[in-house]
Amino acid sequence: MRLTYAGLTHVGKVRASNQDALYLPPSPGREPWVFVLADGMGGANGGEVASALAVETIPRSFAREREASGRVGPALVAAVEEANRAIYRKAEAENSLWGMGTTVVAAALSRGRAYLANVGDSRAYLYRKGKLEQVSRDHSLVAEEVARGVITPEEARHHQMRNVLTRAVGARSQVEVDLFTLELEAGDILLLCSDGLHGPLPHRELARLLEGEAEMEARGRAFIEAANRAGGPDNVSVILIRVEEPGRGESQAGETTQRVAAPPREGTKKTKVNPASGPGKGSWLIWSIPLFLALAGLAAYLLLRS
Ligand code: CA
Repeated sequence: MRLTYAGLTHVGKVRASNQDALYLPPSPGREPWVFVLADGMGGANGGEVASALAVETIPRSFAREREASGRVGPALVAAVEEANRAIYRKAEAENSLWGMGTTVVAAALSRGRAYLANVGDSRAYLYRKGKLEQVSRDHSLVAEEVARGVITPEEARHHQMRNVLTRAVGARSQVEVDLFTLELEAGDILLLCSDGLHGPLPHRELARLLEGEAEMEARGRAFIEAANRAGGPDNVSVILIRVEEPGRGESQAGETTQRVAAPPREGTKKTKVNPASGPGKGSWLIWSIPLFLALAGLAAYLLLRS
């Protein structure tokens, strides 16, 4: 695989500090490459601490997990889970950091594939043959409303509750991480960004900024400038990765786009269950037998009484 990439972050026009953080692999790097973008939140300097801990923990943990298992996707998910534990522990230990958390969108690239892990509302997009597609799904109240058809994506961008997340790294003792796997083609561009970019800029504007032949660094600067021209209401961060040569992929059955669900969190928030990972037909059969017997018994009882 051969890649060119760049990552930039900017405080924006309104905020006093930048709570976003990035990790880019050293260049020239070695496969698998790993990229992390985190958008921290929490009072005092909690947001900065949480996003810094995420970008520090994930690449290290990913390398160790990948070494141990030889598998890229699960290693990336395990690394985000380890960052969750590290942030949660630190928040519990220090009063001033209580309640801190961070979004994470992370990409690992290996053998012609991209593995994208996501928690929160930072996003991963794929730009291919002139079309921009959002790959990750936001874990936010407004994204759930959009999914239910209650509001449109455009309404979500301006919604008062747009910053309310339903999942964050470090907010609870466990976290559910989404994982998406893509087969890459030469010329693909992966865009990772915080809501400081996709909030003020509509989808068509993000796509327009990816047209043409500019280098990744120049494109990154153009993204930051566009967000700041649109008011720069938040910290803005972007990672751009162009696939120059996808390299040789080894096909492994069952590794197309998927979600990896961690054990359910304690707490109240309901999360969507992928039908593919929900109860199988076998378990419905097991439940249906006692249910059938109970209904048959009830019917017999009512018949005998009448
Ligand atoms: Ca933000």
